Amino acid sequence: MTIADNVIELKNEIPEKVTLIAVSKTKPLEDMEEAYEAGLRNFGENKVQELIYKMDNFQYKDVKWHLIGHLQRNKIKYIIGRVDLIHSLDSIRLLEELQRQYEKEGKIAEVLIQINIGQEESKTGIFMEELEEMLKNCENSSNVKVRGLMSIIPVGDEISCRNYFKEMKKIFDNIAQRSYKNIKMEYLSLGMSSDYKVAIEEGSNMVRIGQGVFGKRIYNK
Ligand SMILES: *Cc1c(COP(=O)(O)O)cnc(C)c1O
Repeated sequence: MTIADNVIELKNEIPEKVTLIAVSKTKPLEDMEEAYEAGLRNFGENKVQELIYKMDNFQYKDVKWHLIGHLQRNKIKYIIGRVDLIHSLDSIRLLEELQRQYEKEGKIAEVLIQINIGQEESKTGIFMEELEEMLKNCENSSNVKVRGLMSIIPVGDEISCRNYFKEMKKIFDNIAQRSYKNIKMEYLSLGMSSDYKVAIEEGSNMVRIGQGVFGKRIYNK
């Protein structure tokens, strides 16, 4: 299967209203250009350095860039005004630093709050019990606009995945029903290559797909 074949298949599976983000980490620009030529316009990277390189060198300009991995505070300066959506607001300290640096540059950061729904030590994202405080702080950060939620759920079978997705959708709907300053629930970023169908069934409207677009990733050290 070529990348173009994969994209055609995914586009058949995924409703139009769901944003498909091609997760291109570790993959070369030529592969991304193939995905672009097959119709994809949203790309996701999990490392700032690789994201910057790809933004600088990708030949097509009408694309949206997503930072889907943990953002270190000392790297914010490289992405200000360049990234379309940061999926990984995962601490109040990061929020404060985003607010400070974006305000200084007169820019707005568009973000998703990342929730560690499985409460896993190995993952970033805030715990549910930290959500209220995060929301309160976001209300007071006028250069940071929250556009929704993101989660990377624990590895598990379909029933387990479905339950975590349902839980996320409930939280999303609950926040959407209240009215906060600087906070809108537009995007629910859930689902990857192995579970995107279940995620969409449970209400995801933004899926992050790497291997399903580009084939297996090979990490060489
Ligand atoms: C790598 C990655 C993905 C994509 O994973 P695949 O299994 O290749 O689809 C999605 N989200 C995040 C945050 C990732 O780091």
